[in-house]
Amino acid sequence: MTDHMTTFTCALNPARIVFGAGKRSAVASELDRLGVTRALVLSTPFQKADAEALAAELGALAAGVFAHAAMHTPVEVTQTAMAAYAAAGADGVVALGGGSTIGLGKAIAYRNDCPQLVVATTYAGSEVTPILGQTENGVKTTVRAGSILPETVIYDPDLTLGLPVGMSVTSGLNAMAHAVEGVYAQDRNPIAAMMAVEGVRALRDALPAIVRTPADAAARGAALYGAWLCGTVLGSVGMALHHKLCHTLGGSFDLPHAETHSVMLPHTAAYNAGAAKTALQPLADLFGGDLGAGLWQFAKDLGAPMSLRDLGLEETDLDRAADLAVQNPYWNPRPVERDAIRALLGRAWEGVPPESGT
Ligand code: NAD
Repeated sequence: MTDHMTTFTCALNPARIVFGAGKRSAVASELDRLGVTRALVLSTPFQKADAEALAAELGALAAGVFAHAAMHTPVEVTQTAMAAYAAAGADGVVALGGGSTIGLGKAIAYRNDCPQLVVATTYAGSEVTPILGQTENGVKTTVRAGSILPETVIYDPDLTLGLPVGMSVTSGLNAMAHAVEGVYAQDRNPIAAMMAVEGVRALRDALPAIVRTPADAAARGAALYGAWLCGTVLGSVGMALHHKLCHTLGGSFDLPHAETHSVMLPHTAAYNAGAAKTALQPLADLFGGDLGAGLWQFAKDLGAPMSLRDLGLEETDLDRAADLAVQNPYWNPRPVERDAIRALLGRAWEGVPPESGT
């Protein structure tokens, strides 16, 4: 054990994972295994053609396509989807896409406990968590429940060959953020820590290869493998300062999800570097010894967005963001102090490297 985890509780989520190039063809047999006879296929408008192609392949196993999934799982969209589900006589859902589509499948299952099969096409990790974030009247709430965890996840790297490079990079850094927070989580455990380190290693090696050659099948497979591990960490242990800051920036300032994670990660890793030194050491070793500085340079070399300014945050919002971030803080290895958080946000806004050794 790399950390002093002599006492721990470890509960792994009971999902079935089917992984590999071409495994998209297993959707029918996996639905059958779940006892689903008529699945409503879900997607965003952007991936509608893919969802329709999948429904055509499924034939009578598909109850139809609902292609209106949207970011942050608006309750109005869920209600329309529930009506479509009932009208189609569906008895399960297939979510084809990233966190937005998976969120819709979870929102339906949370309400009617239907079986969910996910075909995951980004690295965000929602498919392996029992967590649902949904929005109603502009307010985002998060719920956890057994019914929310998808029963089966198919990871087919072929479906990610066309994930745009920019999204691949930010989504990959989003996945790494789950792992970084997982190793120092208050309820950390040795299995989650091993998955976190292996997941970050896989993404560290895969993302530069994807930037060089977006259709590199081996690199796409390695990235998806890393994303699965990092997502599993997110679903197993609690998150801390980084996720709190990203939820604040996304929820109160409407900043984009993956890009915000990507900008913030080097800064939050540096903030906790001293307080969680032992836990973070295996990750720091993957990035030349200094995790914050190493991640910052890694993201820069990949062409990731580097500043909150570029994501549209106004400098005048920084004080309010710091105030909000320290309200009801998540547990964090280093105390969450308003002035230090304001300084961190200032650096992230400017896009300069994180403060070293904080
Ligand atoms: P997303 O699902 O919003 O996808 C962004 C866009 O990319 C969409 O238009 C989508 O259709 C498209 N896309 C997805 N895969 C593609 C592919 N392979 N090729 C081409 N286009 C593709 O983005 P995301 O980052 O995966 O998800 C973000 C959302 O997920 C946020 O709302 C976030 O809060 C949520 N999330 C939830 C959890 C959880 O555990 N509850 C975890 C992570 C993220």
